[in-house]
Amino acid sequence: MITTQSEALYEKAQQLIPGGVNSPVRAFGSVGGTPRFIDRGQGAYLWDVDGNRYVDYVLSWGPLVLGHAPKAVINAITETAVKGTSYGAPTAIENDLADLVIDTVPSIEMIRFVNSGTEACMSALRLARAYTGREKIIKFAGNYHGHADMLLVQAGSGVATLGLPDSPGVPSGTTENTLTAPYNDLAAVRDLFERYPDAIAGAIVEPIAANMGFVMPEEGYLQGLIDLCHEYDALLILDEVMTGFRVGLGGAQEAYNLDPDITCLGKVIGGGLPVGAYAGKRDIMAHVAPAGTMYQAGTLSGNPLAMAAGLATITALRRPGVFDSIAEQAQKLTEGLGEIMQAQGVPVQIGQAGSMFGMYFLKEAEAHIRDYATAKQYADTARYGQFFHAMLAQGVYLAPSQFEAGFLSAAHDIETLEATLNAAESAIKQVTA
Ligand code: PMP
Repeated sequence: MITTQSEALYEKAQQLIPGGVNSPVRAFGSVGGTPRFIDRGQGAYLWDVDGNRYVDYVLSWGPLVLGHAPKAVINAITETAVKGTSYGAPTAIENDLADLVIDTVPSIEMIRFVNSGTEACMSALRLARAYTGREKIIKFAGNYHGHADMLLVQAGSGVATLGLPDSPGVPSGTTENTLTAPYNDLAAVRDLFERYPDAIAGAIVEPIAANMGFVMPEEGYLQGLIDLCHEYDALLILDEVMTGFRVGLGGAQEAYNLDPDITCLGKVIGGGLPVGAYAGKRDIMAHVAPAGTMYQAGTLSGNPLAMAAGLATITALRRPGVFDSIAEQAQKLTEGLGEIMQAQGVPVQIGQAGSMFGMYFLKEAEAHIRDYATAKQYADTARYGQFFHAMLAQGVYLAPSQFEAGFLSAAHDIETLEATLNAAESAIKQVTA
């Protein structure tokens, strides 16, 4: 595979942009090699600047649930763009997307749009603190909620991928109210509440931990968290930035029948444009300015292009059968991968929920990953790196890190499935040869 154009661009990018990228995991840091510079995407495929084609399982890290450049979304963006790109004043389309999200995600009664998942989570925590009048928060090791100072504690995603310590530049004062607990461990959360019964505003959790690989919540864990928070008059913030419109049409909360106080969204609701949102119960959201006193604002928040893209995306996704058929493809993919790995005697832990999936290569056949500690202990990142490159060379673009999830879209079909499974069989034979 020729990658000379990507190499030249990467060389230049490193002179201009720290590490050559505008978000760390893109740099292939943990798998090595040259990140592919992308020229275009269409459907399930990406083309790099050298003309190589890849079946894309990253999909811009989740947003592109209909695939690249779907007609409905591109039309919506173009029709909106000719009327202007931003007004800094309210528009009807913000109501339309708000209505659609409220109708789709069970717990949500009101919503505030922001520009990224980071902003959504940061604002959701400010709201939980404003609502409860308390300062401490609980987060879970290996969960990632964006790069706000107070959340860069035992964070997943790029922090996990690069094996970084908690980031320098974060003042200790901003994290002294961040308590951490292992994922899937209710007793640890109870301990924290017993230690600080009147000081914890809330807990923020990824319903499926998809920034340290792909770790499913154990039976009763998420409901147990909600119950514990409520027992101590704290709020549960469900971070559905990644799982929203993916684990179920109504997110993980619909799939697992949960009623969180606040929900964070991002990715899919912007259809590939920069969007986030925090949302929840009316009496809680009423604290947000200008309805209430908790301040949060944004020059480009509710941007018409982003609203149009989100609206077109969710409208298409809600058509009968669309979500289910993506989930079915994801299930076939993970079943196929499982069979291939088993036939080759390669121990893996595979997870799938709706249109998301993950596959850990395990260092020990009997290992089970259920939290960040076991992910770091048992995930064979070296083997993942080899597998990743063997797949890439055959035109399959997986996340360039063992600690990230995979995504499918409505454009992934039987053809991409077969191509991927054939590539995986040959890749794993090369890796284990
Ligand atoms: N929360 C979760 C669960 C995420 O996966 C991410 C990003 N992958 C974020 C928050 C942050 O979103 P953004 O990158 O849009 O700031």
